Amino acid sequence: MWAIIGTWPFALRGVEQAARGLAAGQEAMEAAVQACRLIEDDETVDSVGRGGIPNREGYCELDAAVMDGRSLGIGAVAGLRHCPNAVLAARALLDHPTHNMLCGPGADAFAREQGLSQRPIETPQAMERWQALKRQQASHGHDTVCFLALSNNGRLASAVTTSGLGLKMPGRVGDSPLAGSGFYADDELGAAAATGLGEDIMRGLLSFQAVSYLKQGLHPQQAAEQAVLQAHQRMLRGGHQPDNMAVICLDKQGRYGAACNHQEFVYAAAAQGQPPHLVPVVPVIDNQRAAAPRELKGLR
Ligand code: ASP
Repeated sequence: MWAIIGTWPFALRGVEQAARGLAAGQEAMEAAVQACRLIEDDETVDSVGRGGIPNREGYCELDAAVMDGRSLGIGAVAGLRHCPNAVLAARALLDHPTHNMLCGPGADAFAREQGLSQRPIETPQAMERWQALKRQQASHGHDTVCFLALSNNGRLASAVTTSGLGLKMPGRVGDSPLAGSGFYADDELGAAAATGLGEDIMRGLLSFQAVSYLKQGLHPQQAAEQAVLQAHQRMLRGGHQPDNMAVICLDKQGRYGAACNHQEFVYAAAAQGQPPHLVPVVPVIDNQRAAAPRELKGLR
């Protein structure tokens, strides 16, 4: 059995590519990383890789991570300024014997040593968009690309890449490169990854929570819903109004699902016998309205 799932409609191309690879015997990690890379290289996607939205000072700082479900190995980079394929830097770090995470100039130096492309990340289009956002004093974000893959040999992997919150403060790191918050993978259970406001996602360790619900026997759809709902409600109890959060989840049998607390979330998926397709997600609870959560199956 193989499966691939990715966040947002623009992940569909990555899902299509990964589906071909996985069906032909590609390993989960390779499929997930190459899917992220494809989207990073698409300059029309303004939330990852080249063409991502710059920070407050007008330059991009990329975050990315990968996790290998067999060894629980992690490679993560934060605040990359000169390497548009942040996911490749994260993938290279996975092979390092001791280091899991690098940030800032150290991450860029590592990417350079690995021979990764040092093209400028900022494109003229992204700079125009940045100028407009600055004028409107609007922030922008919430479109991290995350892929979860299961290969025929039972291996699971997660890979995520993002330019983070648009107009963020220099040095700001979101959930995406943080294990358990932005991503998680465990061959014995499943994998999960998140998109939305990193500051809220990390409060609830959203990806790890979703995988822990798999351990309790929930279907990935229910696990994702419980993770979002519990985190959302816990923040409300503490007097904090959560911003947008979404999580995708895949189990070791190739079943998948997703949940969110806002109206806009769509993911892309494919699996053996299921061609690539988009799935709009009905929120478990709506962060724009003080309404009760919808009826959920599984845990309460
Ligand atoms: N989670 C990302 C961050 O906070 C943003 C996103 O998913 O759009 O950096």
